[in-house]
Amino acid sequence: MQRKISRRAIVKSGLIAGTFIPAIGLIAESAAAAALAPLDPKDPTAQALSFVTDAAKVDAKANPTFKPTQKCSTCAQYQGKATDATAGCNIFAGKSVPAGGWCKVWAQKPGA
Ligand code: SF4
Repeated sequence: MQRKISRRAIVKSGLIAGTFIPAIGLIAESAAAAALAPLDPKDPTAQALSFVTDAAKVDAKANPTFKPTQKCSTCAQYQGKATDATAGCNIFAGKSVPAGGWCKVWAQKPGA
């Protein structure tokens, strides 16, 4: 028995696949970010770079270049979108940092 596949069915399945494949990519991307362990502020490298999980708690005296507008989500090293609550950081490989965090390596993300 041979089953005929209509052109309409092929187009339909293509449209369905086209809808789901990007969604699968988004799920995989957020799962990868969620799989990263949060950076521990007590980590020796984190301490050396004065990393804090909340930029509002930066010691301004010890970090005179710090400005209140600086936070991980606006940093060039932040691997997520500005709206992501946490994301990877190019400085702390394999760890996630919170959007509201900060460290001495902060540099303005282009366009942020
Ligand atoms: S390098 Fe940027 S994104 Fe990474 S912890 Fe420091 S301020 Fe946050």
